[in-house]
Amino acid sequence: MQTILEKITQLKKEKDAVILAHYYVPDDVQAISDFVGDSYFLSKKATEAPQQTILFCGVSFMGESAKILNPDKTILMADDKADCPMAHMVSIEKIKEIRNTYDDLAVVCYINSTAEIKSYSDVCVTSSNAVEIVTALPQKSIFFIPDKNLAHYIATQVPDKNFIYHDGYCPIHDRISPEAVVACKEKHPNAKILVHPECPPNVVALADYTGSTSGIIDFATKDRGTEFIICTEEGIGYELRQKNPQKTFLFPEKNQTCQDMKLITLEDIANTLETGNNQVHLDEEMMKKARHSLAKMHEIAK
Ligand code: SF4
Repeated sequence: MQTILEKITQLKKEKDAVILAHYYVPDDVQAISDFVGDSYFLSKKATEAPQQTILFCGVSFMGESAKILNPDKTILMADDKADCPMAHMVSIEKIKEIRNTYDDLAVVCYINSTAEIKSYSDVCVTSSNAVEIVTALPQKSIFFIPDKNLAHYIATQVPDKNFIYHDGYCPIHDRISPEAVVACKEKHPNAKILVHPECPPNVVALADYTGSTSGIIDFATKDRGTEFIICTEEGIGYELRQKNPQKTFLFPEKNQTCQDMKLITLEDIANTLETGNNQVHLDEEMMKKARHSLAKMHEIAK
């Protein structure tokens, strides 16, 4: 009787598929994936992968980005119900309203947004490259969507721009409170505080390091410290522990879990590869426009 891992390995060969997974999916899914990373890394890998089929273990905007960048490939979502609530927290009407209000404006969308929102934006960013990209833009005013917390963090790094904020947020990062972080630090005074910029500004203010999930992993791996307070989704713990089995990682809130990311199972992966279900389909015209904002991100980030 074939194990689920053997089945997935066989199906990957038969279907010429590569499995890409985000750091927030369950540990066993990360363990069997070909590449695990943050949104920026995964969007690059989707473009570089020689396989004809990409199976995405993540939320829907990730699969959409892979499809936009690789329209001729088959993009499958391990679970097509896994979605990011923040990706839907801004409307096209709002973008039009702001465009009509400000001159010399760039609409900068976080990669955690729908394909439609990307198609109405000038450039896309991830938490790894947002500072670099906003700095490089010639426009003075920046409408940063949908995440207000990331926008506030970028604004502190690029103070000469005029930021227009929106009110979107990630429910998981936004609920990490400074009280919980301080309480954890009191119990572990030597621990360094590592914060994802999707957290509220009063949590970022406590950070020894602020950066993307990849940045947090790199920092914790290279740093001489042995204890770290981690302010992002708890799935990152798998990679942190893999790379640093001798170090301790503490999560200050009781619930730092993205339920959408946790929907994905090994059974989903096997079923999706076998059936070809959950394929990402997008309107051609929308893809063309959204590709411009993603391509601009890759061009500037190069
Ligand atoms: S952790 Fe937050 S930003 Fe990431 S997918 Fe979940 S809800 Fe969206």
